[in-house]
Amino acid sequence: MTDVPKPQDPCLATEKRGMLSVDEALGRIRTALVPITGFECLALRNALGRVLAEEITSPLDVPGYDNSGMDGYAVRAADLPEEGEVTLTVVGTAFAGQPFQGELRPGQAVRIMTGAVIPGGADTVIMQEAAVREGETVRLGAGHKRGENVRRAGEDMARGEVVLSPGKRLNPVELGLLASLGVPEVKVSRRLRVAIFSTGDELRSLGQPLGEGQIYDSNRYTLHGLLSRLGTEIIDMGVIPDQREAISEAFTMASQVADVLITSGGVSVGEADYVKETLEALGQVDFWKIAMKPGKPLAFGRVSDAVFFGLPGNPVSVMATFYQVVQPSLRHLMGQSVTEALRITVRTAERLKKSPGRQDFQRGILERGADGEWVVHSAGRQGSHVLSGVSRANCFIVLPAEWGDVEAGTLVEVQPFEGLV
Ligand code: AMP
Ligand code: MG
Repeated sequence: MTDVPKPQDPCLATEKRGMLSVDEALGRIRTALVPITGFECLALRNALGRVLAEEITSPLDVPGYDNSGMDGYAVRAADLPEEGEVTLTVVGTAFAGQPFQGELRPGQAVRIMTGAVIPGGADTVIMQEAAVREGETVRLGAGHKRGENVRRAGEDMARGEVVLSPGKRLNPVELGLLASLGVPEVKVSRRLRVAIFSTGDELRSLGQPLGEGQIYDSNRYTLHGLLSRLGTEIIDMGVIPDQREAISEAFTMASQVADVLITSGGVSVGEADYVKETLEALGQVDFWKIAMKPGKPLAFGRVSDAVFFGLPGNPVSVMATFYQVVQPSLRHLMGQSVTEALRITVRTAERLKKSPGRQDFQRGILERGADGEWVVHSAGRQGSHVLSGVSRANCFIVLPAEWGDVEAGTLVEVQPFEGLV
């Protein structure tokens, strides 16, 4: 079993020349992008998935009072025996929302339910499984700790404490957390407006018949899904034919209504010159070669005031460049704090073919092996047109640029799809 494959190709340096690594591209993009300004106030339920634009300071203690973490008996620790047993008199019951009125005196206990206020005088809760109830008394043994099963006021969040910072994306848990603070609405960044269109004379929209040499435009659907999950507004401009006038018009129109413009197709070597000319007249666009597979060609820049990402046309490349490059960049634009994508290291169940030179984002299936350990399998054919392979996959297998073929049993990094967008 080899854990670190060696570079196998002496031509590596040649292949890498003129290419940007994914991280270099991300760095350049991030430097060029300033997060959008503008915010809106939303009722809590409507804020799911949005990026917080204010600091949230807790206006109260949570929990608001010392309360019981168990169903049992509230007692004074001083009454508990070091050894043997003690019998205490049960003087009442405390329910959640219905506190026991009164003060516990020595020798007394109060029957208490989870979440109920700890009665005055009590400092400890003995869980009911450790108590023997006998009529109006309860028998308790030794070995208990002062304060056990008591949840302290402010233990979760204390009044005045900063609990959420600007840039935090609000997940279901944050909705609950904000509700526990009594916060009914929050200030979030406005939605990012993203225009998408596909370029290519061979593309047909759904509902149109396919002629010879024509295919359905699938990229707009993938992009629509990816952007929906990110919570952006989407302006779908359809398919634009490979004509100077049409492309120029589409870019001009999109740049007037959107913050970001994402296209697919037309940036590969064969077509770049053509799109390049058109875009040079309209804005500032760089055509990069990214050392990633699938992917490689990527246009980035500005068209008027809009940020422009020109993705390659192959469907798998669209998905991979979106996940690895566009998605973190859009999050940055939306004002979201940067968090590194989750990647974990597992063994590959089979040999993976790879040529040195570019960072590979192979599609994999992460599953638990017979021995209980997680392993990754290849999701099958890795061509950048094989979208069915992506559908079967649940992760990227991220292989460093300099690696060659990877032997079965090698530790590799995987990046699960779920939860990324
Ligand atoms: P291009 O980058 O325009 O050279 O396209 C590369 C490959 O991706 C070609 O096989 C195209 O037909 C295909 N392609 C481009 N755009 C789309 C699209 N929107 N949906 C599906 N396939 C596409
Ligand atoms: Mg094309």
